[in-house]
Amino acid sequence: MIVPSITVCMKVVPRPEEVRIDPEALTLDRNSARSLINPPDMNALELALQLKDRYGGTVRLLAMGPPMFDSYLRIALAMGADEAYLLSDRAFGGADTLATSHALALGIHKIGPCDLVICGEESSDGATGQVPGGVAEWLNVAQVTNAAQVDFAGDRQLRAHRELRGGYEVVVASLPAIVSMVSNSNAPRFMDMSRREWAENTPITVWDAEDLGADFELIGAAGSPTVVSGVREAEQRERRRERIEGTPEEQAHTLAEKLGLILEAVPASERTPVSLNGASHPGGDDAPEPEALSAAAPGARSLWGKPPSNGA
Ligand SMILES: Cc1cc2nc3c(=O)[nH]c(=O)nc-3n(C[C@H](O)[C@H](O)[C@H](O)COP(=O)(O)OP(=O)(O)OC[C@H]3O[C@@H](n4cnc5c(N)ncnc54)[C@H](O)[C@@H]3O)c2cc1C
Repeated sequence: MIVPSITVCMKVVPRPEEVRIDPEALTLDRNSARSLINPPDMNALELALQLKDRYGGTVRLLAMGPPMFDSYLRIALAMGADEAYLLSDRAFGGADTLATSHALALGIHKIGPCDLVICGEESSDGATGQVPGGVAEWLNVAQVTNAAQVDFAGDRQLRAHRELRGGYEVVVASLPAIVSMVSNSNAPRFMDMSRREWAENTPITVWDAEDLGADFELIGAAGSPTVVSGVREAEQRERRRERIEGTPEEQAHTLAEKLGLILEAVPASERTPVSLNGASHPGGDDAPEPEALSAAAPGARSLWGKPPSNGA
């Protein structure tokens, strides 16, 4: 039976509600936001720890980013991982997904023999989902995406349930392989308090580009064929925080009136009726246009305008 050597790629991401964009550099301004471990990477770690619970072996963490990431790696060590590696060098800065996946692949290679690399499906900041595929290409190993469950099958294979719309498929891949886990596919465990002191004091291996023997044309900005040509921050909307008083009926009535006012402000040409079965024009191609629908539907006035006078 396999005693697996597993590496979990773990990205530290800024809290989305706190992140700002540096308008000059067109990059995320990390200084303005607190960070957290990318949530799907916690699912990746939990899978790795469950496999370790069942088969033994070693779970290693790999992250690329600034030195302050090490405190997040220590959280994952306290959860049950055995070793942590951080790729940190200004030369990695400005990397797009291709250059990021190249650096991570070099890190995985340098760590040593590995049976399984587990990633999250995507990060909550960049959210391309391209890095696991990139790493698989650089390392020339099998890749399984959208995995919800993974187990080893036989000596040198894994079996994974891949989530699909409306079901799942079971795939078998030869090891070594890279798996990316769908979000919320398991419940990440809490830190083990008995490991906390060890996790806080155990050394984290930090490698720079030279340690990896990297070709400087393939990492950082130089290795990135993608260019961010423009960014725009979404407009923050002020919440009104209105409180509706009265009996439940009065509250419902007032709410319907308020919604009616809001919807009336939307030009008729921009209103799209949506049916419960998901079709935007119930009744197919012959369905009446939105204006006609709103007039024809019983009780429609209560949504699009004032409530009917009979109070229904
Ligand atoms: C031109 C350009 C310049 C950029 N410059 C910078 C920059 O200077 N600094 C910067 O921080 N970002 C920069 N980025 C963003 C950076 O490319 C992405 O953050 C990175 O490639 C990961 O992509 P993603 O977030 O879409 O990850 P995804 O592909 O969505 O992530 C999927 C999984 O891959 C793994 N993973 C991804 N990134 C890492 C990581 N760093 N460490 C460990 N595991 C990881 C995780 O398991 C994650 O769940 C730049 C992007 C572009 C296009």
